Amino acid sequence: MSGEETGTALLQAAIKTLAKAGVPDPARDARKLFAYASEVEAWRLTLTLPEPVLPETKTRFSTLIARRAAREPVSHLIGTRDFYGRSFAVTPDVLDPRPETETLIELALRRPFRRVLDLGTGSGCILVTLLTERVGALGVGGDASAKALAVARRNATRHGVDQRATFVQSDWMGAIQQRFDLIVSNPPYIAAAEMAGLSPEVRQWEPRMALTDEDDGLSAYRVIIQQSVPALMPGGALLLEIGPTQGTDVTAMARAAGLQDVVVMPDLDGRDRVVMGQIAVAMA
Ligand code: GLN
Repeated sequence: MSGEETGTALLQAAIKTLAKAGVPDPARDARKLFAYASEVEAWRLTLTLPEPVLPETKTRFSTLIARRAAREPVSHLIGTRDFYGRSFAVTPDVLDPRPETETLIELALRRPFRRVLDLGTGSGCILVTLLTERVGALGVGGDASAKALAVARRNATRHGVDQRATFVQSDWMGAIQQRFDLIVSNPPYIAAAEMAGLSPEVRQWEPRMALTDEDDGLSAYRVIIQQSVPALMPGGALLLEIGPTQGTDVTAMARAAGLQDVVVMPDLDGRDRVVMGQIAVAMA
């Protein structure tokens, strides 16, 4: 044997580097990045790790580890993040799809809908998932960021729903005139004062406009609720992701705007995560 390093040795060193940098789950991240650098599926690592590593793999891996140690998110390094069982393209121009947003998907899929609007669509993960799960439905994704819309379009194509999805550059409902039987949004809801407390991955690498309203965290809801309730068809529903402390405020806004049956629903961690309400079905 030559003195070439094995994957196992490189991985151990990388885990130490990431741990020193304060990365929360260094072993998981190092494995993911090693799999990516060596172009091996993660489940095959147990077989390949004892082997000597090719020089180009070693170079790629050490670059990735250095970037991760600077707290760049794994999703940005590998270019994708899984959401509701599918892989989505991710760039620094969009909010990373997060597991708690799957709660909004579950609730939306309990409703009948044919025309859905996603306000602030970002990566498009919500809209694309809803269209993939609800065959035949049509969707519109709005976002103020042209760069985010480019990512959302890529994800619609990636999952074969581009024929049923339209993407519009729009400041909330500003450029959107149609009516819908489902409107969903995961708007920026972190108060400006809370931004300093976020992890470096979020604070330094994710788009600030997707995270905070630069205000009290509730201003996007004021606009979205006021603009979207008139765009709901009879029987239609509005579903909004919220931060865990915002249930009471957002519920009050939704009721004041005329929505009925307004409820707050928890995520899998038991924290308030979605406010939903509906428009009464028109009387015959
Ligand atoms: N859930 C995100 C976070 O806490 C916030 C996303 C948002 O503001 N919509 O990082």
